Amino acid sequence: MEIHFEIGNQCLLKCRHCSSMASELKEQKKYPDQDMIKLLKGVEGKKDIYLTGGEPLLYTNLDKTLNNLQMQISDIRLGMFTTGIVWNSGEARSISEEYARKLADCGLKVCYFSLYSHLEKEHDWMTKLQGSYKMLNESISHLQAVGVETRFNSVVTRKNMSCFNDIIELAENIGITEVRILKLIKHGRAKECWEEIGVTEQYYKNVIRNALKRKNKLRVTVSGAIDILPCRNDCKRNICPAGVELIYVVNNGDIFPCASVKKKAEFKIGNIGEIDILKKWYLFQTELDGEMLCQ
Ligand code: SF4
Repeated sequence: MEIHFEIGNQCLLKCRHCSSMASELKEQKKYPDQDMIKLLKGVEGKKDIYLTGGEPLLYTNLDKTLNNLQMQISDIRLGMFTTGIVWNSGEARSISEEYARKLADCGLKVCYFSLYSHLEKEHDWMTKLQGSYKMLNESISHLQAVGVETRFNSVVTRKNMSCFNDIIELAENIGITEVRILKLIKHGRAKECWEEIGVTEQYYKNVIRNALKRKNKLRVTVSGAIDILPCRNDCKRNICPAGVELIYVVNNGDIFPCASVKKKAEFKIGNIGEIDILKKWYLFQTELDGEMLCQ
């Protein structure tokens, strides 16, 4: 199963779609590593753990947290959702070769990089940080050099929907192993920018169908379109895995079944610090019927 942990809300980018409303203000996760470990020890089987944010690379104790998880939890694969941009010597930079090696030594196995366009200008427009496209590409090659698997998370917007297959072609050319097509959810900053970047469900599905028509040399996965493809690799079509095969822990420790509903209080399962959180989670699962929560 997949478990996502927000470990801070700080980010150097100001992406127009950002669901977390991440900002430059330093805000780190409010729950200790020990709570993560306690939760994960209660989960049987293989666990794909993804650290997210904000930008997880800006979390002060990233290497320590990765190491704690690597050492204390069995049957896990550690990953991150990242922009590939760190703060170093007073400016935004790519991940250095040295830091990439350190992250790999701490157990990092896979990174999903957020890419919004195959065109540098369009990507930088979306992130509102000039140079972000170049830095992202440098970070990718430095992580690949130390054996970290690199994938793309690409949200479909009005800006990229007509050239989405170019993103896949770019990914193939630079050794990316998966392009995950993400549905833009109208929350966070995306709500404010909906006129500029929002797409209808129908356009979103057209992008997916066009991508699947291609002879892809890499894996294409999708979110929020379970009638076309399962939302997670090991899941069945037409069944939403949220809350069963997937949970999402926000910065303050509150747990939701999926990132797409993290702003909806009615979907809150509980808080990671609660003694009976595993029991609450189990009870939450009994209420689910496999319908998509992100409708
Ligand atoms: S709510 Fe379900 S279908 Fe929607 S994105 Fe989350 S896991 Fe996928």
